[in-house]
Amino acid sequence: MAKGIGKSSSGKPRCGLCGKTRRLTKTDCCGNWICDDEHKYVIFSYARNSCHRNHRRYTLCASHHNEGHPGDWKDCPECRGSFETEMYVWYGTNEYNFTKLENPPDYEPTRCSRCGTVIKLATEAYSSLGEQYWCEECSQIEMQERVHRIKRSRGRRSPRA
Ligand SMILES: [Zn+2]
Ligand SMILES: [Zn+2]
Ligand SMILES: [Zn+2]
Ligand SMILES: [Zn+2]
Repeated sequence: MAKGIGKSSSGKPRCGLCGKTRRLTKTDCCGNWICDDEHKYVIFSYARNSCHRNHRRYTLCASHHNEGHPGDWKDCPECRGSFETEMYVWYGTNEYNFTKLENPPDYEPTRCSRCGTVIKLATEAYSSLGEQYWCEECSQIEMQERVHRIKRSRGRRSPRA
């Protein structure tokens, strides 16, 4: 939801992601104005309230730059090969981008191996093992079953031993 990338009507630079005009810095990867707000992020909170951090962590633009790939990220084969298609598309089209992939590739949605629900890998909780994916709910069921299996395989010993 960028409101006019670049400059505001008064000529002041604005964050290209949220439009704020205070405490700005330029991104290393693409030189766009962005909030200098990484201090707002609380470690391990997984909050996505920092423009700078979001662009740095969740875009192809930043990862392409950090990996030192040549050329433009939008037609970079190395970026394309680095992520599963669903994540590639998300990294290239989410709201943390200044410019987005114009022709994102198609992909089959990821489905829970247990209940078949579509899982949005970028924004929903899930767990995976090899080719299998489980939605949040089924992950918990799977976990419990695994714990039961472990208990059973331990025979008569108490599970706390
Ligand atoms: Zn911002
Ligand atoms: Zn960038
Ligand atoms: Zn790249
Ligand atoms: Zn499920």
